[in-house]
Amino acid sequence: MNRLDGKVCLVTGAASGIGKRIAEVYAQAGGRVVIADLKLDAAEAAASAIRDAGGEAMAVAMDVTDEAQVVEGVAAAVARYGRVDVLVSNAGIQIVNKLTDFSLADWKKMLAIHLDGAFLTTRECLRDMERRGEGGAIVYMGSVHSHTASKLKAPYVTAKHGLLGLARTVAKEAAAYGVRANVICPGFVRTPLVDKQIPEQAQELGISEEAVVRDVMLKDTVDGEFTTVDDVANVALTLAAFETNALTGQSIVVSHGWFMQ
Ligand code: NAD
Repeated sequence: MNRLDGKVCLVTGAASGIGKRIAEVYAQAGGRVVIADLKLDAAEAAASAIRDAGGEAMAVAMDVTDEAQVVEGVAAAVARYGRVDVLVSNAGIQIVNKLTDFSLADWKKMLAIHLDGAFLTTRECLRDMERRGEGGAIVYMGSVHSHTASKLKAPYVTAKHGLLGLARTVAKEAAAYGVRANVICPGFVRTPLVDKQIPEQAQELGISEEAVVRDVMLKDTVDGEFTTVDDVANVALTLAAFETNALTGQSIVVSHGWFMQ
């Protein structure tokens, strides 16, 4: 269990934060990792660090909202490694604002990265998996906000709920060729995405940054603790390496008890 020996794992948004740690953990488990990110320099650096540690990794430039770049990035992975066995659709951003102040452009940008990106990467990887008929795994990076809502996050909450529907549909359609699809739903993890939000939320809510962390982000956890990139990466490893269709179409909440389903 929890080995990915030789499996080709494409992780989007893997130049930073949660995706970067998933790529490292997958490489340590024997996976051949494709680091797909908007930021090619950071993706190259992450791939190089994995290779320096004895793992196998390549970087591809990919804006997940750009159909041509997704097609080319997945094709580059298949050209190099012959296949894609695992997709982690993880790339994401956050824009916080009151619903009444949200621009249509920001709404569309959020849905494009989280939902169009998940669709496009899923389609391209599934085409390879269907053709080979040797199974595979897709992991979507949802959020506690796949199950509940918070103020100021209308498009994020909408998109993260949408990923549950996509994962369940993929679980049904792709079971015929042995592909499983699941969603990880983390609580707050201290990454650049969250560090940026703390001062923004403090300003929007008119409270201190310490109060945002204590009274907004971690208020409903069982222990006042942040979830870590390792917590999420270890669950991502289990979902990638799990061997049967028994675990498909599910969402797993990793949030220090913030949300219990
Ligand atoms: P992060 O900012 O550290 O990393 C996100 C990465 O995605 C960056 O490398 C960025 O370049 C890349 N990216 C952004 N837009 C992209 C695009 N269009 N195409 C390709 N790559 C793109 O953020 P993170 O906290 O590691 O977030 C990763 C995922 O985890 C996101 O989907 C986020 O919603 C989700 N998540 C994060 C938290 C948290 O608390 N940090 C909690 C729940 C879910």
